[in-house]
Parts: sequence; structure tokens; C-alpha cells
Amino acid sequence: RTSTSAGGFPPTSRGITERSVRRFCVTSSPFQPSPRVDPALRRPGRFDRRVVVDNPDANGRDAILKVHARGKPLADDVNIMSLARRTPGFSGADLANLVNEAALLAARREQTKIFMNDFEDSIDRVVAGPERKSRLISDKEKEMVAYHEVGHAIVSELLPNADPVHKISILPRGTALGYTIQLPTQDKYLTTKSELLDRIAGLLGGRVAEQLVFDEISTGAGNDLERATELVRAMVCEYGMSESIGPLTVGKRHGNPFLGRDYMEDRNYSEEMARAVDKEIRAIIDAGYERAKSIIQENRQKMDSIVKVLLEKETLEREEFDTLMEGASLNSLTVQRKPAFEKPSEPEVGGTVGEKVDRKPEKNPR
Ligand code: ZN
Repeated sequence: RTSTSAGGFPPTSRGITERSVRRFCVTSSPFQPSPRVDPALRRPGRFDRRVVVDNPDANGRDAILKVHARGKPLADDVNIMSLARRTPGFSGADLANLVNEAALLAARREQTKIFMNDFEDSIDRVVAGPERKSRLISDKEKEMVAYHEVGHAIVSELLPNADPVHKISILPRGTALGYTIQLPTQDKYLTTKSELLDRIAGLLGGRVAEQLVFDEISTGAGNDLERATELVRAMVCEYGMSESIGPLTVGKRHGNPFLGRDYMEDRNYSEEMARAVDKEIRAIIDAGYERAKSIIQENRQKMDSIVKVLLEKETLEREEFDTLMEGASLNSLTVQRKPAFEKPSEPEVGGTVGEKVDRKPEKNPR
């Protein structure tokens, strides 16, 4: 769940992102009654302990990658630990996928070994889905996607507690028309209120950019808004991070993600509290929107020049983005675009614009 962001306006790395971000709680809730267990044993305090299966930390990822790489022809330049450090928020399944994609890529490149380069190129694919070269996008839409993505990137980059921008692209991937990937620099087990507020502003950066630049908004921000709203709701209702509501939890959500059911909510609060919560959520979102807006307004020229380069190059790596943010021109850069080798396009699955792929590990933010 590190805030890796991808946007086609709402395509979704959601599958992977949300999946890797979600905490899987195995609990003997009423949703999975076990007929063989004596009801007395299921009294509170007995079987309702939660077992949280978290995504692996760097050492865990190193071990998992090694298991999946066993027997595969790795080139000498492959450094598994370095890959493990670059994939915070990846689940075991994501890591298995990464190794498979790298092997496929190496084969497509007609190599007899898998190089570090193949692994690195596969990270994006695992995060945001396969490239979709067949998708033709009008220049007008491309421009909107570019501003949307750069909006996410600039806001996140200039906020002190957001994860660094790893890559920005307007090449369609998965169901997204563009994406911005942010990766945390290290594994994290707690998330602070400041970090959440910065993440919310970053999520809103895409919509804000559309509004300011085009005086028009698109469906591209749908997924961003949904995620921002979920984060704010959790801050207010689960983590007691709202001043007006205070350090208490509101409602109790439970359910079993393995059964694919929606979370159910025990309503243990008044109408009055419900209204106060709604009002507070609204206030936090509005404040995040205003923060994003002032950052973009102050950096509008920079934004225009970054968008120009992005429209030309289609993908900006971290170093390139940094250089542009510092006001330098890209001529001073020697970063070379690698030719993209991808599988033939897969069937299209609907479209969204400019999704922010957050891979921040939102593990146990308590
Ligand atoms: Zn977006």
C-alpha cells in the first residue's frame, strides 16, 4: 500500500494496490461459524482474537523472492535484497508475480538469463498492470491525463510526509490511462495523522489540477476520491484522529474479506453522531483539497513545463522528475528511455483516468 499511484483516470491498480494494502483478518466472526466448535468456546475472549496476516517486510520479501527465483537462470547482476527493498507493500502473491513477469520479459527479450533490468521493468507491470499500446487516446485527453498525474506528483512531492514519486506515466496500463507511482523509502508499520493528511491531499491533486487547468473535471478522479474518502472515514471513525469527534471509535466494521462480502457495520452511535461524522469527513476532505489547490497554484508554471516534457516522453522516472522540479531542463539529464518490451495488448477492461497507485503499507496504523 505504498502510495504508488497510477491514473487513467480511474484505472486500477486497485486490484493489486488495495489487495496489498488490505489487512486480512482471520476471525471467528458470526460470518464463518464453525459447527464443530462448541458455542461455549466461541464466547468473546476465546476465539475472537484477531490474527493479522501482514504483508512481508524487506527480509520477508527477500526470502519470498529467493524461493520463487530458485531454479531460474539469474544473471550475475541480480540483487534480490535490493529488489526486496524496492517493493514495500508487495504481498507474497505480488512477489511471485514479479518473478514470473521478469522471466517472461527475459524470454521475450530473447535472453537466456533474467537480468536485474527485467525485474525492474516488471515492477511497474505488477503495480499498475500491463501496458496497453492499442489504446488510442486523443491529444486532448492525453493532456488532461498528463495534468492529472502531474497534479498528484507535484502535490505529493511538495508535502513533507508523502512518499516520494517514483514514476509518472501517461502510457495506459491496466485499466488506467495514466499513473503516478509513489514508493515509500522503507517499510513502515505505523502511519501518522500527518502522513494520512498528506496522502489525502496527494490523492486530490489530480482532480485539483483538472479543475484549475481546464476549468472542467472528469471521471478520471473517481477512484482517487473513493480512496481519499475511505482514508478520511478511517481517520475519523477508527483511529480517533479527528479533533471534533475525539479519540473514540464510531461504529464497528467487521466482515470476512475471504468470503468476498462487504464489511458489515454495527451501528452503535446516534443520529447526531452520524451527522457530526459526515460533517467532519467533509471538512477534512475540503481542507485537503485546499492544500492541494494552493500547492498547484503556487507551482503552476513548473507544472506546465513538466506536463510538456511528460507529453513528449510519456514516462518520467524519479530522477527526471526531480530534475524538472528543481527547475532544470531535461537536457542536463542522461537518463535513457529503455525500449519497452511488452506482451501484445490484452483485452481492454473499461477505462478510467489518472489513478494514483498507492503502495503505502497501511499496516496496522494504530
Ligand atoms: Zn488520479
